[in-house]
Amino acid sequence: MSSHEHPLGISFEFFPPNTDAGRDKLIHVRDELAARKPRFFSVTYGAGGSTQARTREVVRAVSESGITTAPHLSCIGSEKAQLRDLLAQYREEGVDSLVALRGDMPSGMGSIGELRYANELVEFIRAETGDHFDIAVAAYPESHPQAPNLDKDVENFARKMKAGANMAITQYFFTADAYFNFVDKARALGVEQPIIPGIMPITNYTKLARFSDACGAEIPRWIRKQLESYGDDSEAIAAFGTDVVSRLCQRLLDGGAPGLHFYTLNQSAPVLKIVDNLTD
Ligand code: FAD
Repeated sequence: MSSHEHPLGISFEFFPPNTDAGRDKLIHVRDELAARKPRFFSVTYGAGGSTQARTREVVRAVSESGITTAPHLSCIGSEKAQLRDLLAQYREEGVDSLVALRGDMPSGMGSIGELRYANELVEFIRAETGDHFDIAVAAYPESHPQAPNLDKDVENFARKMKAGANMAITQYFFTADAYFNFVDKARALGVEQPIIPGIMPITNYTKLARFSDACGAEIPRWIRKQLESYGDDSEAIAAFGTDVVSRLCQRLLDGGAPGLHFYTLNQSAPVLKIVDNLTD
């Protein structure tokens, strides 16, 4: 760790904005978050090509902060030749970190492509580019929605780590023990690389509930009930959310989590409130 890095090992994720206003706002958010000396930024990617060009543009803009910026890259629906080109472009542009994913097939799209799972993508990147890229992959403490059970999912996760990933970032969750249980299972299968918890701030209950259903993240009943009771009082939701998520982060750090990766949703205020509540 560089002496200039934030002591808690934080990182921040963005998505490519759709509008010019969104892009302008993201530069401002980037600068506010860069001031906290994160380990890295990352920028998400739409499966099937929809936002691939925008991911590259945003990676370029975000990396002007001087902070390492990792594009997310998914393989589903892509041919090897396309992935090879994209890797070459990233290398030329000075990118040296990636988040490697399978992704999800957009509905109505045809072929799955040549690589079916993220472990195959990691193998492909290593075969094509050796050790050039630092590779992060995804982990699911509450199990990936398509996995038959958690043990099977952890086996698949371990295969992906052994294919040459340097670290993992988890899907978000609100139950610290789900993370500790997952890490124990992965370690038992010989995974030694860092597994960084992914942290979702709570700011909007309706959106969070919809998103959590889709990605298989559980909102515990006590949190759901409390959020429902606030109706559309966004200040009350934000205050409660900051408190709950700050306590979750502190438990994770105290229990040995090797950093925190924040899903910023391109906003700085909610994550900064949480970061400022945490102690080393
Ligand atoms: P995999 O690791 O391939 O796993 C997918 C499923 O297949 C799991 O159920 C697993 O158990 C099973 N499996 C894995 N390998 C095998 C195998 N060899 N044989 C049989 N079964 C196997 N999506 C985007 O579109 N863009 C993004 O930018 C993006 N960023 C993300 C960042 C993070 C940190 C996380 C946690 C998720 C992100 N996602 C993103 C979502 C992700 O693409 C989906 O969750 C997707 O369904 C799975 O991708 P994966 O890389 O985890 O897949």
